Amino acid sequence: MDFSSKLLEQAVDEMAQLPGIGKRTALRLVLHMLKQPESQTKQLANALTKLRTDIKRCKNCYNISDTELCAICANPARKSEIVCVVEDIRDVMAIENTDQYRGHYHVLGGKISPMDGIGPSQLSIKPLLDKVEAGKIEEIIFALSSTLEGDTTNFYIYRQLEGKGIKTSTIARGISVGDELEYADEVTLGRSIANRVPFESSMRS
Ligand SMILES: [Zn+2]
Repeated sequence: MDFSSKLLEQAVDEMAQLPGIGKRTALRLVLHMLKQPESQTKQLANALTKLRTDIKRCKNCYNISDTELCAICANPARKSEIVCVVEDIRDVMAIENTDQYRGHYHVLGGKISPMDGIGPSQLSIKPLLDKVEAGKIEEIIFALSSTLEGDTTNFYIYRQLEGKGIKTSTIARGISVGDELEYADEVTLGRSIANRVPFESSMRS
């Protein structure tokens, strides 16, 4: 692409770094911004800057949060002894949308994937095990997507929990194999949490 402006080219190059945005789309977006009032672009830039500087991870569940303790962990009405293990904030949002779950979460930040060089130490698995050791957890619900990586991660954590006297369950698979949690409809997902099954029985099926 030949640009008559270096500034335009730079903005397009940055925008095109985003997933799913090719150069043509990036150019369309940048030209759109130039047509908008200047204040709108400044608000966007400001929101992105603040996102990177001010955002935190909840010190209890590792979910993305504006505060040290996220709103879910800080809510005394939630049951802290039941913990749902998920990959990231999208899963938390999907499950919260069902209005069927009143426990806590633990956000791993990914799944074990040797192919991508992601091992247990790169995920927040140890803090979860520490919470178990501290006797703060009665039940762990595995809610990772049923991909090879999700199953590997579930099984790794499950093995670490053996003999610790913790109830382990998994969300009932009304959701077909390979589907990501975030795409499951609310009714199905809500039912899956309510009808969760012991983790052992999910391994046999
Ligand atoms: Zn939290």
